[in-house]
Amino acid sequence: MTFALIGNQNSGKTTLFNQLTGSNQHVGNFPGVTVEKKEGVLKKNKDASIVDLPGIYSLSPYTSEEVVTRDFLLKGRPDCIINIIDATNIERNLYLTLQLIELEMPMVIALNMMDEVRANGNSIYVDKLSSELGVAVVPISASKNEGVDELAETAIKVARAKKPPQKLDFCSGDVHRAIHSVCHIIEDHAQRINVPVRFAATKLIEGDEPMLASLELSTNEIDIIGHVVDEMQTNLGTDREAALADMRYEYIENLCRICVKKVNSTTKEQIRSEKIDRVLTSKYFAIPIFLCIMIFGFWLTFGPFGGTLSNLFSLGIEKFTDMLDSVLTNAEVAPALKSLIIDGICSGVGSVLSFLPTIVVLFFFLSILEDTGYMARIAFVMDKLLRKIGLSGRSFVPMLIGFGCSVPAIMATRTLSSERDRKMTILLTPFISCSAKLPIYAIFTQVFFPNHAVLVMSSLYFGGILVGIITANILNRTKFKGKPIPFVMELPSYRFPSYKNVILHMWEKAKDFIVKAFTIIFMATIIIWFLQAFNYKFDFVSDTSESMLASIGKFLSPLFAPLGFSSWKSVTALITGLTAKEAVISTFRVLLESPATTFEAALQGEFSSIAAVISFLTFTLLYMPCVATMAAIKRELGSTLKSAQMMLWQTGIAWICAFVVYRIALLFV
Ligand code: GDP
Ligand code: MG
Repeated sequence: MTFALIGNQNSGKTTLFNQLTGSNQHVGNFPGVTVEKKEGVLKKNKDASIVDLPGIYSLSPYTSEEVVTRDFLLKGRPDCIINIIDATNIERNLYLTLQLIELEMPMVIALNMMDEVRANGNSIYVDKLSSELGVAVVPISASKNEGVDELAETAIKVARAKKPPQKLDFCSGDVHRAIHSVCHIIEDHAQRINVPVRFAATKLIEGDEPMLASLELSTNEIDIIGHVVDEMQTNLGTDREAALADMRYEYIENLCRICVKKVNSTTKEQIRSEKIDRVLTSKYFAIPIFLCIMIFGFWLTFGPFGGTLSNLFSLGIEKFTDMLDSVLTNAEVAPALKSLIIDGICSGVGSVLSFLPTIVVLFFFLSILEDTGYMARIAFVMDKLLRKIGLSGRSFVPMLIGFGCSVPAIMATRTLSSERDRKMTILLTPFISCSAKLPIYAIFTQVFFPNHAVLVMSSLYFGGILVGIITANILNRTKFKGKPIPFVMELPSYRFPSYKNVILHMWEKAKDFIVKAFTIIFMATIIIWFLQAFNYKFDFVSDTSESMLASIGKFLSPLFAPLGFSSWKSVTALITGLTAKEAVISTFRVLLESPATTFEAALQGEFSSIAAVISFLTFTLLYMPCVATMAAIKRELGSTLKSAQMMLWQTGIAWICAFVVYRIALLFV
């Protein structure tokens, strides 16, 4: 038996899913957290599986969430739909319910957030609602685990009885006539492709292209439907979509008049949220407050607090490495193997793992922002600015996370509902300087621009953003023509973050990160170590300039000659930087450190001019991201070819920018 969990965004689907299955999916007070569908098994009945689908407001095929959900319903044919409704917002939530009923599949309504309804002194006549809609209704509170067992029992009963909704006709007037005429025309076509006739008819009247295509109607039939729709539009004086929406809302209004008793028209939570919003999203204070909050967050993450944790952690890793080193020395392990373990794995994986506390702190902060409902507001505030470069407010959150690390940033693009906006955001995120590039900037500024540190640092950060904006503008006019989809995210009420959610969120990210360190980074460091420790005859080399890595660096270095830096060491550093950007610095250290000179002097010796240094930094800022990010991009784009194209394109941009910057810099310095 399969149950499909369907409802509006933020109606509590994932909370209910977790209660029903006992699993720990991520719950967020941020619309659009669940993008993929997730499956689980009912706690009380192991034969029944439940699918948590993304939140949607209608069954039109406009957003990827709607497409996922609709396909699942029409093709997967679940045994029962559990339609979850936020009872504090019942009018809007019923809009989807009316469309689900047209699917003629067994269905139960879970009336969620009843705790809030009660607390506000309102009530809903559940029996009345159930008999009016012809569907079983169970009042629940998912977060308080009230009514969840009854819901499961009812769903199983309905699924066993294969009992479809008892009523279908919620239409009236001209739309009613149109729906019934279209039903007659398409009946056989709908039956052939196994889609409920009435659902197909309403979708055709709404002007649903995929539905029209899949029905394979004759030209004649399409003509007749066109006339029916024209007739309806002229009679009503509205367009086709509005006509259906009006009709549904009219029905819902009447239904709520008899089923919902409201003492307070706005809930306590809404009133509180409005009060908070009057400050946090006010015209003049919204952006300054947001900046303060973010600066505080970054300070928490990269400043003393996160920094101390990170240092302690690195110290721990160092101690562990030393210990392992002495153990291996005592055990008289072969030098090559020891070098692999200590210089390769421990330093490679270790340098990445030392960022774990930073990531955890960053996500602690971000999940609090998300869980309280503030993140949704930021997206709104930023929407106006981002729209100018062809992005919508939702792209903002992933880009913000990108300052920390591109990997979670790219994963966060899942909250974008349009494919176009999502791809564009994925393309832009790597231009934002992630925290791993900070050590590179820091060391270069210290060596080459000790008196202009702030200027250089901020130029780099803003340079990345600027290139991102320019790229977005170009993409907006060429490859991704069109408009970002209208930003219709609802603002959830401010809620106190639940510690369970926050911990869960942090753990999820930490787990992702640890897994990444021990898989991709682990492999990459072994390969890099191998290449720098051996020559082509597989002899262990004492001088790295004879290693395979050096020869690869030398081979590629002519490519970088026009940019002003062509020493094989800097090219090699750029290559190793692909495992993780921090590796650029560690590679320089390994390659340049010698008893004869200091590291700083050797680094200065590597670059012929300041212009070359600027060019190198520009290239580092913009060139293709690290393997972990590449893997994330590949996973999100779902295509190796497209991700490879993106890497080339990004590196191309980096090359051009570095070239231009180099030529200009040569004129001035
Ligand atoms: P989804 O977007 O539909 O998956 O919704 P979530 O499960 O992520 O929940 C959205 C928000 O509503 C979270 O902050 C939950 O803690 C909260 N929530 C869920 N169910 C209830 C409930 O029954 N009562 C109250 N007061 N809050 C709830
Ligand atoms: Mg969810």
